[in-house]
Amino acid sequence: MSLLNSLAPRRCPECDEPGVFVFEWTATTVPASYAAAPVNGRLTYNDVKCVFVLGCTSCSATVVVVDAETVARRLTEDGF
Ligand SMILES: [Zn+2]
Repeated sequence: MSLLNSLAPRRCPECDEPGVFVFEWTATTVPASYAAAPVNGRLTYNDVKCVFVLGCTSCSATVVVVDAETVARRLTEDGF
């Protein structure tokens, strides 16, 4: 079992059909905090963080979002 698969559920919560496990990982950036808005209305490097997003290719639902720090820690633990 690969690292990212170990972080993912076994089925889509939206499709909820047995045997439908067609997911796709992508990486993107999101605001690091939704609590504090940027001062001048523009995000800077320190205002965003990297996340890995697992989406269902059947219905486009977001299945899970994993912080890149979690992925990095798991890679280190697994000896990569
Ligand atoms: Zn789905």
